[in-house]
Amino acid sequence: MKDAFNAFMHIFGFEKLSKYESDYLHDSNIRTSSYMGVIVIFLEIWMLLRQTRSKIIPKYQAGEDLFGLIVKYTSKYWLFLLIGLGIMLFCLYQKNRKLTKGQFVSLLAVGCACILYTGVLSLETFTKASDSITPVMANIMNAMLISIYVLLFVTGVTIVAYALLNYLKNKRVVFLEHLVIIFFTLICLAFGIFVSYSDFWGGKEIICFLTMVIYVGCLLIYRPYVTALILGASFFAFYKILLTFQNGLTFQDTEVVINGITQKIISGDSVNYVTFFISLTTICFAIFHGRLNEANKSKALEKSAREDGLTGMHNYSYFAELAKESIQNLEDHYEDYVFLFLDIHNFKALNDQRGFEEGDKFLIAVGKYVSDVFRDALCARQADDHFVVFTKKENLKEKLNALNDLVHDYDDEILLGINCGGYQLSSNKDDPRMAIDRARYAAHLIKNRFQTIYAEYDKKMSEEYHKRLYVVNNIDNAVSNGWIVPFYQPVVWSDTEELCGCEALARWKDPVYGQLFPNEFIPVLEEYRLIHKLDKAIFESVCRDMRTSLDAGRPVVPVSLNFSRLDFELMDAVQELEDLVKKYNIPKELIHVEVTESALTDDIIKLDDSIKRIKELGYSLWLDDFGSGYSSLNVLKDYQFDVVKIDMRFLSNFEKSEKSRTLIDCIVKMANRINMLTLTEGVETEDQAEFLNGIGCERLQGYLFGKPIPKEEFYQRIDKGELVVSGRQI
Ligand code: C2E
Ligand code: CA
Ligand code: CA
Repeated sequence: MKDAFNAFMHIFGFEKLSKYESDYLHDSNIRTSSYMGVIVIFLEIWMLLRQTRSKIIPKYQAGEDLFGLIVKYTSKYWLFLLIGLGIMLFCLYQKNRKLTKGQFVSLLAVGCACILYTGVLSLETFTKASDSITPVMANIMNAMLISIYVLLFVTGVTIVAYALLNYLKNKRVVFLEHLVIIFFTLICLAFGIFVSYSDFWGGKEIICFLTMVIYVGCLLIYRPYVTALILGASFFAFYKILLTFQNGLTFQDTEVVINGITQKIISGDSVNYVTFFISLTTICFAIFHGRLNEANKSKALEKSAREDGLTGMHNYSYFAELAKESIQNLEDHYEDYVFLFLDIHNFKALNDQRGFEEGDKFLIAVGKYVSDVFRDALCARQADDHFVVFTKKENLKEKLNALNDLVHDYDDEILLGINCGGYQLSSNKDDPRMAIDRARYAAHLIKNRFQTIYAEYDKKMSEEYHKRLYVVNNIDNAVSNGWIVPFYQPVVWSDTEELCGCEALARWKDPVYGQLFPNEFIPVLEEYRLIHKLDKAIFESVCRDMRTSLDAGRPVVPVSLNFSRLDFELMDAVQELEDLVKKYNIPKELIHVEVTESALTDDIIKLDDSIKRIKELGYSLWLDDFGSGYSSLNVLKDYQFDVVKIDMRFLSNFEKSEKSRTLIDCIVKMANRINMLTLTEGVETEDQAEFLNGIGCERLQGYLFGKPIPKEEFYQRIDKGELVVSGRQI
């Protein structure tokens, strides 16, 4: 029973519609109405042209009331032309939030014309005697004309009211929009009934009524019960009116004698009439439900285009769009507003320890915290564990502290917290994406500093930021103009301290910034996934340098090349190296490949094949920065390295800490047990060198033996005897 009731409510459209649904239906109606308006205009122009050639209009005789004649024979066409024009303009303009002056004036003109025309027509109709055949018919015709005029009048008034409200008050009144279309619909119906009634009297069929109801069917896609009501009422009214021809007349072929003329009523029987009504109403229902479905589909689509799938917050592109609008509307006081970029400390740890599902739950919770704390602001999830906010600066610190507390209290064991960068608006032309990028940069600078949760983008950051942008934008220039050069840092045998190799370290000799160090360009190139361009350039320079030295008969030592994790993803790094080695004809034992530990523990990119190939091709494989990450021992288990480079952090408190000495000792022994040699980086003192030699670490590298220097300087040091090339090189 309840189901049947619900089905009824659904079919007749009594259910509550969301704003989106009713807007969607309204928009579709407006669209249909604009087409209908155009059709009406064409039709009426055609009718008017036809009328001028028609024999119905008697030849104009001098002294006759010309105006009266025109009105009499063409009035309904003018009426429709006007209303068609009004509807078309109204529908075209309705989408605009604010009418332009021209639009306002044209709508006002059409609206007023409708009102005025009503006056003229009413005068004409009611001052002249009607030429209807029966008093009943005359009354009905007059009643219908009155209703058409009244409708025309109110349509005119509604259009004028709409234009005034929109233009002067900058207000779009949807209610009036509905009214305009409803009135238009009713005028069409009244017109259909009116013309068909007189046609019927003239022995013709009720085609006009039928055309008009079909026409109106296209416009009447409101709630089904409204459609049923309006169509039902018109069919019923028309039926009733037809009956006035003769009492008791039914819809069977009947001969009626009117004014001595035999008329054959050929309007079909009532069954057909009712069937037509039902079919039309059903079609309107079907269209309504079809449109409702479309509305829901397009809503879902729109939602997914605007929403972040996980947290339900806005997504980044929608955020940027909304923020742009807000900024433009700020006019003054823009400096009171900031863009925030929020990053979560230790999110990775939570994800690793508790699993992705818990990680997702946490992100949803953080999304809620952010939206709650910044209730009146624009918030969104950017990606991963990054959230963005556009807000007033008021009480910012308090809000961030509150947010940090909420995030911190989420888990008892994992130390969670926020890290936020801010960018204060500098004008109302700021681009949100640029602003967020700067806020992100500020946040990035305080990453891993738990005590500081907020940093605002300032002048110093701005300089660094621009330097980073400069690097990204100029990497191609730098490569092609030779601004990127390898410096060489000596590597020595720990027992003899004789030169057994060197490491190529990149330097960027910039025409604007002077010499740039790797920390100024390597991380940013990695972030923007451009690092392979630099590495390829370094590989080639190293090979070229080596070829020149070999050709000149100078002593040559093996060079270690740094491979970034991303090199393997962004290019076929092994093949690139192989090609260069072939091109410059370099003996393979002179090239060592350094891969950092973190590259090998990354779950996302599997380097197994590349690493295997490096070995197969005959290069020596070195593990860089051993001990700097979390999973060092696994890396040793999974890959066979020739040399392990012990991270320089192990030497950091070498003098004071017995522990760190023991640790290095153990690492060296362990590496030897699994057939790997060791090199310790960052050796700065004689004590360190002596100790490392004592525990059997074969190779050493550090400022004690030399900083990274250009190739020529490197040779000068060899020539001066400061560096002695060892005869033993492997
Ligand atoms: P890395 O591969 O661990 O290189 C060693 C870094 O430690 C070099 O810094 C070197 O100058 C520095 N260093 C060497 N001995 C000592 C010492 O005794 N004391 C101290 N305090 N530092 C020492 P640099 O040249 O600034 O390079 C930094 C990092 O940039 C490198 O670390 C490497 O990861 C990266 N890098 C450098 N050149 C390249 C390159 O061509 N490609 C790639 N992908 N990365 C590179
Ligand atoms: Ca290295
Ligand atoms: Ca290193």
